[in-house]
Amino acid sequence: MKAYRLVSPAPIEHKPLLPADLPLPEPAPGQVRIQVSVCGVCHTDLHIAEGDILPPRLPVTPGHQVVGIVDALLPSPTPGRKGEAPGLRVGARVGVPWLHWACGECDFCRRGMENLCPQAQFTGFSVDGGFAEYLLADSRYVLPIPAEIPAEQAAPLLCAGIVGYRALKKAEIQPGERVGLFGFGASAHLCIQVLRHWGCEVHVFTRSASHQRHALELGAVRATEAGSSAAMLDKAVVFAPSGEIIVRALESIRPGGIVSINAIHASDIPSFPYATLWGERQLRSVANATYRDGVEFLALAVKAGIHATVQVYPLEQVNQALDDLKHSRFDGEAVLEMTGG
Ligand SMILES: [Zn+2]
Ligand SMILES: [Zn+2]
Repeated sequence: MKAYRLVSPAPIEHKPLLPADLPLPEPAPGQVRIQVSVCGVCHTDLHIAEGDILPPRLPVTPGHQVVGIVDALLPSPTPGRKGEAPGLRVGARVGVPWLHWACGECDFCRRGMENLCPQAQFTGFSVDGGFAEYLLADSRYVLPIPAEIPAEQAAPLLCAGIVGYRALKKAEIQPGERVGLFGFGASAHLCIQVLRHWGCEVHVFTRSASHQRHALELGAVRATEAGSSAAMLDKAVVFAPSGEIIVRALESIRPGGIVSINAIHASDIPSFPYATLWGERQLRSVANATYRDGVEFLALAVKAGIHATVQVYPLEQVNQALDDLKHSRFDGEAVLEMTGG
């Protein structure tokens, strides 16, 4: 099977993902093999390819927003193991998110916070992901994809959408609140649709003129550069991987407000006066997402009629897709389509 693998991280302009012809992977007990239809391209994939985040093994096939068809399945022999995803069978259409595996036994897993499991493994990072024709997944963590959502629409929901949804939950956003989104890429353009569904007033801060236009089309009351004054926001979500933007967001919320940070990687946060935080303002990071977040968000996506803006590339153009992502050359999210053959 065809796969695009990272052997040695490098700036994306040097095309670090290399084509490979690999044997078809065989599922272990408790795993499914999935024939990939489409795979979304996430900012995290760019960070991995460029070496900002180092995977525990190389080479590795990135890609963790996979939509495909179950093509083989081996039941788990482990008694007492949490069950497999409902409706899982050969031929089922499923999604594979970032969380590949969690231990199920540690304090975090027992509290439903498997996103923080110290032994957690991640798709396209700890194990091979979806920039390939096939991949293996743990049958407990694959998500059934609602029939209403086409494959290329579903892929961006699986990380940009689910982790964005967790960031909205971490910011404890209430219906009708005034919310700021700092940065406006794949995740934010899905979050704004959830916020509009909840009747929130959304203010978007981004440098890109094209992303500003996109935000206004999706119902933002205002789209401008960060720092160009702040209406007092109730809550804010930071998507830009920038410590300075995190401070900007904190400066723009009211006392008692919350800023959640939807970024796996960010530059250092510069020092700021205590007064910026004082008044019971809270700053929270978001790490990965739980299986439950995925189930909740996919149901919400159908109910809210979320439409992802996608730029489709053939798998062979994965380096180009990542390069275009780095330079904000499209709105929404890039999605790789398997061309077959
Ligand atoms: Zn991601
Ligand atoms: Zn655990």
